[in-house]
Amino acid sequence: MNKPHNLDTSELQAIDRKHHLHPFTDSKELNEQGTRVITRADGVYIWDSEGNKLLDGMAGLWCVNVGYGRKELAEVAYEQMLELPYYNSFFQCTTPPAIGLAEILAELAPDHINRVFFTGSGSESNDTVIRMVRRYWDLLGEPQKSVIISRKNAYHGSTMAGASLGGMKFMHEQGGLPIPGIVHIDQPYWYAEGGDQDPEEFGLNVAQQLEATILDMGLDRIGAFIAEPLQGAGGVIIPPDSYWPEIGRICDKYGILLIADEVICGFGRTGKWFGSDYFGIKPDFMPIAKGLSSGYLPIGGVMVSDRVADVLTDKCGEFAHGYTYSGHPAAAAVALKNLQILRDEHIIETVEKDTGPYLQKRWRELENHPLVGEARGVGLVGAIEIVKDKDKREFFPKEGTVGGVCRDACIRNGLVMRAVGDTMIISPPLIITKEQIDELIEKALKSLDETAAAIPGINFED
Ligand SMILES: *Cc1c(COP(=O)(O)O)cnc(C)c1O
Repeated sequence: MNKPHNLDTSELQAIDRKHHLHPFTDSKELNEQGTRVITRADGVYIWDSEGNKLLDGMAGLWCVNVGYGRKELAEVAYEQMLELPYYNSFFQCTTPPAIGLAEILAELAPDHINRVFFTGSGSESNDTVIRMVRRYWDLLGEPQKSVIISRKNAYHGSTMAGASLGGMKFMHEQGGLPIPGIVHIDQPYWYAEGGDQDPEEFGLNVAQQLEATILDMGLDRIGAFIAEPLQGAGGVIIPPDSYWPEIGRICDKYGILLIADEVICGFGRTGKWFGSDYFGIKPDFMPIAKGLSSGYLPIGGVMVSDRVADVLTDKCGEFAHGYTYSGHPAAAAVALKNLQILRDEHIIETVEKDTGPYLQKRWRELENHPLVGEARGVGLVGAIEIVKDKDKREFFPKEGTVGGVCRDACIRNGLVMRAVGDTMIISPPLIITKEQIDELIEKALKSLDETAAAIPGINFED
């Protein structure tokens, strides 16, 4: 197959079925349906091989922050590949794009964070974080402080370490996870788990599980706490206002390291550069990826606070860890240009002051729909809960069934909206306009109406 572009959809699907194992996919089911082949994209839209145009409400996988079709990003990749396609940052070497990217990241990050370790993805970043947390406590003479506290239903990637730090049960069920030394406390998911408590009281209570776990296991064993500023893949779960200040207080009081996984929140999603800026978090580590390059090339990193980086620099000797593609020059050049675009075109300020508030206002209107129990969001990320009974916050049985129906309706109506169980989520490119937001809302509403109409025909029994 020399020219896949010349093949029609069914030919492409046949080859895909035969040779391609997809991530997070039931391959048997997929092979029966056939893959959707995405062939091109521009701005906030993608097209499939059948010519269908879809508004990409997920920015790919939360990553295409500057939108599709930015020629400057293709050009810097091309130029960098001609000049120096690859060199490593091991062995006392580095490359100009990696240097430039590290510098701009230090400028954009909170003041106490000025150094970055490059990786190839968000999952790798979280592998690196575990290595750094444990090395840090080693160097301070407390190697037993190796336990990292995380949260149920967190997403921190899909490698052994990433999936272990993550709190997704269905992932832990495969491959003998989590690895030792990681424990999970409850998530601040008021809508589904808050019961009769009011949101602020609930937020405080789940935050205090961190303190209870530290005291229960013994402070001498606990090295760090990791959390996404807002949970993305778990269903765009936004903690109550009481949550982060209490987490901050506990981390400070006990001197444990705080990891804010910025892989989704970083680079403008909330209308600030980082989710930590939005929620007032003061992290020791910020894993980054996704929006770092707007997904144009794979790259990630771990940003490290001065107090930790000083120890890892001055006392460590050789840090026995790194990736062939740490600081990859073409990926770094694209990421650098991407950050310059976000900064120079004031894209994040526009999200904060204009398109973010507009999306949130229109998104809340979805609560008027009979199926929608809650519509929530910040900046350009949002979720709606599809429920059977709004007053009781009661979900439909066979979680994910109604969500799947709604997702399929969205696709038919020209919108990519993702289903996490029966929670529908969006995270569009940051360059989305108000007119395109109106289009998104209109398509979401139409799809919700079609979902409501389909519900009497759903068999919830088997
Ligand atoms: C996507 C994601 C990751 C994993 O990133 P990959 O690049 O897919 O490895 C880690 N953390 C969070 C919060 C994510 O959303």
